[in-house]
Amino acid sequence: MSILTDNIAKLEGHLARFRQTGILNRVAGQDVPGSAGTFDSISPVDKSVVCAVAHGTAADIDVAARAAKAAFPAWRDMPALERKKILIRVAEGIEARAEEIALCECWDTGQAWRFMSKAALRGAENFRFFADQVTSARDGKHLQSPTLMNITTRSPIGPVGVITPWNTPFMLSTWKIAPALAAGCTVVHKPAEASPLTARLLVEIAEEAGLPPGVLNVVNGFGEDAGKALTEHKDIKAIAFVGESRTGSMITKQGADTLKRVHLELGGKNPVIVFDDADLERALDAVIFMIYSINGERCTSSSRLLIQDTIREDFEARLAARVNNIKVGHPLDPETEIGPLISEEHFAKVTSYFDIADQDGAQTAAGGVTLGDEGYFVRPTLFTGATNQMRIAREEIFGPVLTSIPFTTEAQALEIANDTDYGLTGYVWTNDLTRALRFTDKLEAGMIWVNSENVRHLPTPFGGVKASGIGRDGGDWSFEFYMEQKHVGFATGQHKISRLGV
Ligand code: NAD
Repeated sequence: MSILTDNIAKLEGHLARFRQTGILNRVAGQDVPGSAGTFDSISPVDKSVVCAVAHGTAADIDVAARAAKAAFPAWRDMPALERKKILIRVAEGIEARAEEIALCECWDTGQAWRFMSKAALRGAENFRFFADQVTSARDGKHLQSPTLMNITTRSPIGPVGVITPWNTPFMLSTWKIAPALAAGCTVVHKPAEASPLTARLLVEIAEEAGLPPGVLNVVNGFGEDAGKALTEHKDIKAIAFVGESRTGSMITKQGADTLKRVHLELGGKNPVIVFDDADLERALDAVIFMIYSINGERCTSSSRLLIQDTIREDFEARLAARVNNIKVGHPLDPETEIGPLISEEHFAKVTSYFDIADQDGAQTAAGGVTLGDEGYFVRPTLFTGATNQMRIAREEIFGPVLTSIPFTTEAQALEIANDTDYGLTGYVWTNDLTRALRFTDKLEAGMIWVNSENVRHLPTPFGGVKASGIGRDGGDWSFEFYMEQKHVGFATGQHKISRLGV
């Protein structure tokens, strides 16, 4: 039996129960149907129905928010070491079920097995990392003044809402939920409607690990009803959101009446700048990896290649040859490098740029075509001869599509790199240290890598500037979002107090 057939057989085993019962919402440790019935989850691999999913609405969000509120005091007050143990057991549970998570994720999202098996394990790492921070999460500072001993402490903000997208749903959910739980918050999670499977697995694993009922609740549904209701609910104190910039803007408005704290991780149109003095072999590998891995459905993808004109012709030719060689196929085949795009709607969006590029006068050096009609497959695509004013250079396509733009001078490269609404990541390839320092200082992005692809290190801040978001995750930055600062001043003597009305 090939690994692919074996994986498909294992997947069927895992899906059998969902096919029978559908995916129910999980509130206060109980399975609950959606108040608006169900909707179908569709696999992008063959357009088949994966299973029915509870269709939650504002009424379901209300019940879940109340459950999160009721569970909050006990979770907040649980001794840190006990909370830490539970979170470590969640990490162990994820590791034990990593294969099941990865198989389900591939089938639900179309992402290739080679990446999703790692993404499942990264979910466990997220839990371990934040479990280790639990015992210091409440720590503060001692700020002595002449008359007062000032101390600060942190306390969890309360029940929070977590709203996640479909691109790597399991990893991103753990990335938000693990620090929230570690801080002592309770959570209502609204997963993306296009990829509900692994959010269900996570809550099961968490409860098996001993997470008390109501600490993590999952309500499935659509953004415009369940998602919106979560952002508007008075008992939900903050919203951690990952998704499109346009949605981030709506969420900010929706949360205004309840003065919601929002953390937004949004889209990107990230530049990778390759200077002619760079290690071009390594640059080529990184350029390819950062746009064609994870189906190009990746917020940090380098979707704009800024290439110095002295090396452009050769670099683009080698790039096109490699892109034409990328293996598109069944996501459960370990050889596959690119699987199908998430949905019919997204497929239509990505493929629309094939014509847009043509109309705008760019050349299609690789790809630009779809593959069969069984699922939502496209060939990885490379556009050359582009300018930064073209739509393919300005809009987030969120697929395996790279736009190559030439530049002559460093100043020109910087101008093009920054001439975008977004500012999530930037990648700079040069062996000139002074240039790297100068360039990164001026590059408008929340995260920059020099002579490297995106290598995530959990203690570092993750987030974007401009339309790519507000706020940072990672290390202590996550706790800054999920916790409130409190200052207490103790008089150290009998300092003079101004006397009025004497
Ligand atoms: P999306 O904004 O369409 O949806 C994300 C989530 O928001 C879904 O759960 C959806 O149901 C919900 N939603 C939609 N409308 C809502 C509303 N009015 N109120 C509340 N919730 C609402 O995004 P997507 O298409 O699922 O994901 C792709 C996007 O996510 C891309 O733009 C990508 O760059 C971005 N992304 C960013 C990061 C990051 O860390 N910066 C990471 C991954 C993905």
